[in-house]
Amino acid sequence: MSAPQKKPKNLPAIALTPDDVIPHAHCPVCGGNDLVPYFELTFHQITIPYQRCRGCDLVFMNPVPNQDWYDRLYGQAFWETKSAKSAPEETQARQKQLIKELQRTEKLCATLDAAGCSPKPGARLLEIGCAFGLIISSIAEHYQATAFGVEPSELAAGFAQTLGGVDVIAPTIDQLSEMEPEPGQQMDVILFSHVMENVVDLNKVFKAVDRWLAPGGVVLMETPNSTVQNSTHIYHPYCFSQASLRQLFGGHDFEIVSLRASGRPSSTLIPRYLTLLAKRGADGGQATPSGPNGGFDRRLGHGWREAVKRTPLVLVDRILTSLLYAPGDAAKRRASDLAAAHLAGAHLADEDGG
Ligand SMILES: [Zn+2]
Repeated sequence: MSAPQKKPKNLPAIALTPDDVIPHAHCPVCGGNDLVPYFELTFHQITIPYQRCRGCDLVFMNPVPNQDWYDRLYGQAFWETKSAKSAPEETQARQKQLIKELQRTEKLCATLDAAGCSPKPGARLLEIGCAFGLIISSIAEHYQATAFGVEPSELAAGFAQTLGGVDVIAPTIDQLSEMEPEPGQQMDVILFSHVMENVVDLNKVFKAVDRWLAPGGVVLMETPNSTVQNSTHIYHPYCFSQASLRQLFGGHDFEIVSLRASGRPSSTLIPRYLTLLAKRGADGGQATPSGPNGGFDRRLGHGWREAVKRTPLVLVDRILTSLLYAPGDAAKRRASDLAAAHLAGAHLADEDGG
């Protein structure tokens, strides 16, 4: 069980030089140049400015660290917090996270069903950034479909394969975008659950989607809703709103089937997440930004969140959320079994690796 090579809990400082960043002269989503300062993120003495595009309301890092830099950061950070907790604490924290993922899964299935896009038995479902594979394997099980994944962490991909039966076909979206699917290998659903905001190059995402999405297939994604909550974070080159997602998908010839803001499963009153379902459009006619967007809805959204947090509404929210979004017994049991299996597997991996 001992792993002498474990690094300390805190992230080590990582330098960011001018060679590590890419400046954007225009908005990376709509190509506009009506950009205003939005926020300055500080991370281990590194300052990263965010700008907001007044054309499409996208908030983005500018300049943005390149993928190599992020790969180094992820490589250093991935398992570092794991060893800081005792085994029972670790299992409990993992269990909580798994319950949330199972609830997220239910929400994603409900989104597909409500739009009449439920996958047929035997359909092929691909999750980009599938981690341990819980979400995509649960969705696949629900629809009697087959689960595929893209995941850079070898350890997580191993779990996804052995515990979830997820076929991990590539480590990264970059590599997926270079691979040509053979006939019959394209995907009926491509899922991004809290992944699109982490990507450096959105064009590569759409290049991969263009190649891998089957005719009639859908893209399903969830991301933080930056209209109600500041979602700037060292791992988030982009912070999306409904307007910027419409522009992003419209600009790549996708038609939005549904786009909803909802706090499920974390909050009833604060619509913290955006869930989008899109399919290829007949033609890309709707890609012109309506701007200039003064950011009024953003000020209103952030104000509403503050109002909930600073008043007794926070209690109302807590009660409503526990009533409306309580996890079922089956989800709790499944999470508990999986947390134990993950932990046992992680310790085996430690022993193998150490
Ligand atoms: Zn824009």
